[in-house]
Amino acid sequence: MMEILMPGDELATSEEYIPGEGTYERQGIIYAAVMGQKDFDENEKIARVKASSQISILNPGNIILGEVIGVSNSVARVTISGLEESERPVGNNLAGVIHVSKIKEDYSNDARHEYRIGDLVRARVEQMEPSIQLATNAEELGVLKARCMKCRGILSNKDGSLFCPVCERTETRKLAGDFHRYSPYYRG
Ligand SMILES: [Zn+2]
Repeated sequence: MMEILMPGDELATSEEYIPGEGTYERQGIIYAAVMGQKDFDENEKIARVKASSQISILNPGNIILGEVIGVSNSVARVTISGLEESERPVGNNLAGVIHVSKIKEDYSNDARHEYRIGDLVRARVEQMEPSIQLATNAEELGVLKARCMKCRGILSNKDGSLFCPVCERTETRKLAGDFHRYSPYYRG
């Protein structure tokens, strides 16, 4: 596992290296200016930090947690907040898409029936390059917490479906098998 540097971490002295991209120098010491990975050029003697947002530190098969930021007929767009196992940060502004064909094991003809903006989801990384593709076509994957389309409130778990106590509406989602552990229970 590669080491992730945090801003302010000491990298080298300015006698050994020239401070490069992603670093700063103070009183002869070179520090990381961004979160990322050490990237030293030994020929030119330049110390750099490659920002996490530019590094692929996720791999296919990883299970991530993320938030739905957009949904169309064919895809749900998800910002990745971290790996479920380790809560290790995965860099800034990482986002992937779940194609409608990868949402659930059964056929879905519209991603908007399965995901909505603001939903917290658990998904599997399918591929990283050239774009991040996610999938939730397994029992344990899908929505952990959902927001009401109308009032944006957290939907309650009512006998395995999603209910908004404010709007008194029921909504549909591709739910993770254990979503009841995360969603508040509705006691009407
Ligand atoms: Zn509502």
